[in-house]
Amino acid sequence: MPEAPFAIPPLKRIAIIGMGLIGSSIARGARRQNIASEIVISDLSPIVRDRVVELRLADRVEARPEEAVIDADLVILCVPVGVAGDVAKQMASGLKSDAVVSDVGSVKAAVLRDVRPFLPASVGFVPAHPVAGTEHSGPDAGFAELFVNRWCILTPAENEPANAIEMVRNVWRALGSNVEVMSAAHHDLVLAITSHVPHLIAYNIVGTAADLEEVTRSEVIKFSAGGFRDFTRIAASDPTMWRDIFLHNKGAVLEMLSRFKKDLDAAQRMIEDENGPGLFELFTRTRAIRRGIIELGQETAAPDFGRRGAQNSPGGS
Ligand code: NAP
Repeated sequence: MPEAPFAIPPLKRIAIIGMGLIGSSIARGARRQNIASEIVISDLSPIVRDRVVELRLADRVEARPEEAVIDADLVILCVPVGVAGDVAKQMASGLKSDAVVSDVGSVKAAVLRDVRPFLPASVGFVPAHPVAGTEHSGPDAGFAELFVNRWCILTPAENEPANAIEMVRNVWRALGSNVEVMSAAHHDLVLAITSHVPHLIAYNIVGTAADLEEVTRSEVIKFSAGGFRDFTRIAASDPTMWRDIFLHNKGAVLEMLSRFKKDLDAAQRMIEDENGPGLFELFTRTRAIRRGIIELGQETAAPDFGRRGAQNSPGGS
């Protein structure tokens, strides 16, 4: 029998700022799990706001974040990390004194640095990163199950009140996630290698293939199932979001990238030297990592990675 979903007493009001893939998935999940009696949203784009009304994703839609956050118990910023500080500055005047603010940004130290200074001291700030996503953007791309059985990492500063951390933890559990708490700096290092560098490699390899003169573009597409296709899914991710991630997690990404380049040089040398045992040992080691991911329920063993016909292609930043 499937486990009963984790339930919490509904908050009076939550405000979600930014109604893209992640914001609209939270709104859908919050509605389904009755996480709040009232959901108020704000988005910069009038087109997105109109669409949110059509899709009935919120009880109220506001253009200005400072109006959306009035009387909200919990405010979740779901905007690109590069504008999180600006949005925090804009909305701060509307926050009630005991509100809790969170976010979903894929980078945490920069968000902590950019957002906290604009929030009143009485407001709890509990940054969060749901490690779940797809390559799609916008309010139509979201779905309530996006976070189910995925990890959500919380990175509060040491002095944040325990009740604020507990509220955010419970909301994510009610959305179906497993929750872990760590420091923002550690999060950024872990995600640099598990998400950010892989995205950089995907963007780069797809770019290299597009520029090749000896192989035509139609051949690249026709024979893409040889491995390239899986990189193209990642390389189709939102350019604004990913530009901001690399600019805001520069240190950790550069550190992991330099280790990766050393390992790539070593693999190149093994090919040059026709070092078969070395290559075999490397590929055997990496295969075990994939088995571990499947065993932890974070992926499927299906040859199409469970993607066919499914909205929730695995991924996430
Ligand atoms: P998205 O689909 O592009 O949505 C972002 C939304 O925020 C858009 O509707 C955008 O409006 C709006 N926005 C931008 N600037 C704004 C502002 N100043 N005020 C109010 N709204 C604003 O992006 P997403 O994938 O949901 O990503 C949102 C956040 O989640 C990012 O911080 C990202 O790092 C994080 N995240 C993403 C994933 C993923 O896989 N996608 C996974 C985990 C975490 P416009 O369309 O008009 O720009």
